[in-house]
Amino acid sequence: MNPEEVQRYRAETPGTQHVIHFNNAGSSLLPTPVFDAVDAYLKSEYLIGGYETCDKYADGFAFSKEKLGELIGAKADEIALLESATTAWYKAFLGLNLQEGDVVLTSQTEYVSNFLGFLREKKYQGIEIQIIPNNQWGEIDVEALEKMISPSVKLIAISHIPTNGGLVQPAAEVGRIAHAHNIPYLLDACQTIGQIPVDVADLGCDMLSATGRKFLRGPRGTGFLYVREDFMDKLDPPLPDLFSFEWDEIESYSPRQGATRFENYEKHFAGQIGLGIAADYALKIGVDKIWARSKQLSELLRKKLNQLDGVQTRDLGREPCAIVTFTVSSKTAGEVKLLLNEKNINTSFVDAGGALMDMAERKLGNMIRASVHYYNTEEEIETFIDALKSILSS
Ligand SMILES: *Cc1c(COP(=O)(O)O)cnc(C)c1O
Repeated sequence: MNPEEVQRYRAETPGTQHVIHFNNAGSSLLPTPVFDAVDAYLKSEYLIGGYETCDKYADGFAFSKEKLGELIGAKADEIALLESATTAWYKAFLGLNLQEGDVVLTSQTEYVSNFLGFLREKKYQGIEIQIIPNNQWGEIDVEALEKMISPSVKLIAISHIPTNGGLVQPAAEVGRIAHAHNIPYLLDACQTIGQIPVDVADLGCDMLSATGRKFLRGPRGTGFLYVREDFMDKLDPPLPDLFSFEWDEIESYSPRQGATRFENYEKHFAGQIGLGIAADYALKIGVDKIWARSKQLSELLRKKLNQLDGVQTRDLGREPCAIVTFTVSSKTAGEVKLLLNEKNINTSFVDAGGALMDMAERKLGNMIRASVHYYNTEEEIETFIDALKSILSS
């Protein structure tokens, strides 16, 4: 990505004039086309009515599914438009209807909300949760995973990139094992979509969940679920409603065509239109170019952080992504985040509860998370490092 392109994407991101936004893993700054699409939709609801606007935008919702599909190598029919990654994940997970004694294999860095789902089904259905050990780099140990496979294993569910760091799990290798043993594979790709190129066929996942607002730069209150076409009938979607199912006879009901069966009648319509525009925006730039640039920026940021006294970066894995986590010896992560905020620099703060097992294993209470994206600049990294130096010396 050349400097002119970066300047163009910044011009299309007015937020960059107000803040240094290193919180793309929390919620990225919206590009203008996404804002305009959401704005126009809301305005139409305001002027001609909600149902009438929805009818008018039928092609717009189809466009969103097509573009999200294109982004991950899936068909439009395999995409359900939802309001968060968590909703998407739960629709797939609960749709499996796991029973007593069924084993779920997951990673040590699993996202809190997903793990709470496992705990709930353990409590009510008696499923068993088993944690795949890490290898020496803090990634899933793929050989150990293979040894854990047994006829009781009914699901492998992992987060591709955890919420609390740059780690990228070997999702495709996990997919090969899942496939070889015919075990359903649910991938939480919340931090991946819009950051790293993804192809569901390469990853080998049957189900994939993601959010709109993070690296994809879509509106808040949006997310989506992918379910592979020939896996669709293995799930019985929870929360059936008049949109996702048909009430055939008084005692029977049947799902609608494709992944629509995971959606619901009422949704964040304006957001779903904006989500499609965000996917289109990322596709037009090229996710491979986005990844090359954000990786390069994050490497620079890590290098500069590690040159500071009393600062330690904490990212695991052999090829960390654009999420940079670090701790400082003299202050808590919460303090540093607030002090950076006062200087118009947005970061976020991860506490132990976001990924309890991983944080406990590494004896970390909290960390500062600085997540960069392609529209950030080397100059912003300089300013960030200077700001951090002054905070550390005060
Ligand atoms: C943010 C995040 C989620 C949850 O996404 P929501 O859209 O807030 O539901 C899930 N998994 C990971 C790894 C995340 O970072």
